[in-house]
Amino acid sequence: MRRRGRTAPTALELPAGLDAGVIEGLWRWYEATARDLPWRRSRDAYAIWVSEVMLQQTQVITVIPYYERWIARFPDVASLAAADEAEVLLLWEGLGYYRRARNLLRAAREVVEHHGGVVPREPDVFRALPGVGEYTTAAVFSLAFDDDLAVLDGNVKRVLARLVALDQPPSVPRVHKKLSALAQQLLPAGQGVAALHNQAMMELGARVCTPRSPSCEGCPLAAPCRARAEGAAESYPRKAARKAVPLQQLAVAVLADARGRLLLYQRPYGGMLAGLWDLPAVVLRDDHDEALAPEAVTDVVVEAALQATLRADHGLEVAVGEALPAVDHAYSHLRVRLHPRRCFLRARPRAERAAESGPRWLALADLGARALPRATRKVLASFER
Ligand code: SF4
Repeated sequence: MRRRGRTAPTALELPAGLDAGVIEGLWRWYEATARDLPWRRSRDAYAIWVSEVMLQQTQVITVIPYYERWIARFPDVASLAAADEAEVLLLWEGLGYYRRARNLLRAAREVVEHHGGVVPREPDVFRALPGVGEYTTAAVFSLAFDDDLAVLDGNVKRVLARLVALDQPPSVPRVHKKLSALAQQLLPAGQGVAALHNQAMMELGARVCTPRSPSCEGCPLAAPCRARAEGAAESYPRKAARKAVPLQQLAVAVLADARGRLLLYQRPYGGMLAGLWDLPAVVLRDDHDEALAPEAVTDVVVEAALQATLRADHGLEVAVGEALPAVDHAYSHLRVRLHPRRCFLRARPRAERAAESGPRWLALADLGARALPRATRKVLASFER
């Protein structure tokens, strides 16, 4: 019996007319219209690295103030490497995907320890640092040093998928490989233009070849673009079948002691939102340990869940009071609905047991100095009102 071997994916063909003149037109368009973004004013590898990590999964407009605060506080690898993780997480608070911040810190410490505090100049060495992947390596080395490495972020994928009218979803690994090869083919090698070319491709996807209503009339790649010729730009890139994002309901305790301090704990490392400070909470489940449906969440259920959790986890007997507004929050893989309740101690906690075992009683005024999940800040905002 013949065994089927793996075949290399067939390369994508560039559309007719996509020649050097068109690519130069793209560059001229970029030079004439590029946004003035703070990280574009620098060719420092560390500054570009920070910006690229922040920009993963996050919009430019959100990143700008975070980037400026970060660079003001940690202007180089050494200052970041010397920082406390708590301060790093606090500066990152609100950007989400906190693993990115922890990896940046770990990577900075490795750079100080093994590379004299200078971002290593060899892509393979840089690629081995915590949190650094193929995309970040290509972005940093092309933008800082003009190394001929094409970037393939979401914006570039969309431009390429439309240019060649790609009939498969880019999220499929073998299709991603084909797009990566196509991006590299479009980047003229040996001309020292990688920064200009990559920036132009990313900018085109961000501002012209947008997911909805792309501005094909003003696009420098309009002439050879197959999706435009088909009159079907928006139907590319093709989408993979979406998995439903589960919804989790959580009861949340806003528990104050006699001095008005709130009980918070530091989330364990290795899980979601690792290392952030949070209010005690419990996922609401039914008798079969399934996530509770929204219509099954009642005051009685929330109250019982909070009393049981605070007793079991912290040895605290509490009364559950007023409901604060529910808070909805979406992560990439999970949606959560928080059902916060004001809670009161029925009896004094046993000595400072809570403080020693992890959770702490913290004054509201001190919470600004700790990193908290964004959804928890929303709960606290309604508590303070
Ligand atoms: Fe995108 Fe339209 Fe330009 Fe094609 S012509 S690359 S679809 S903006």
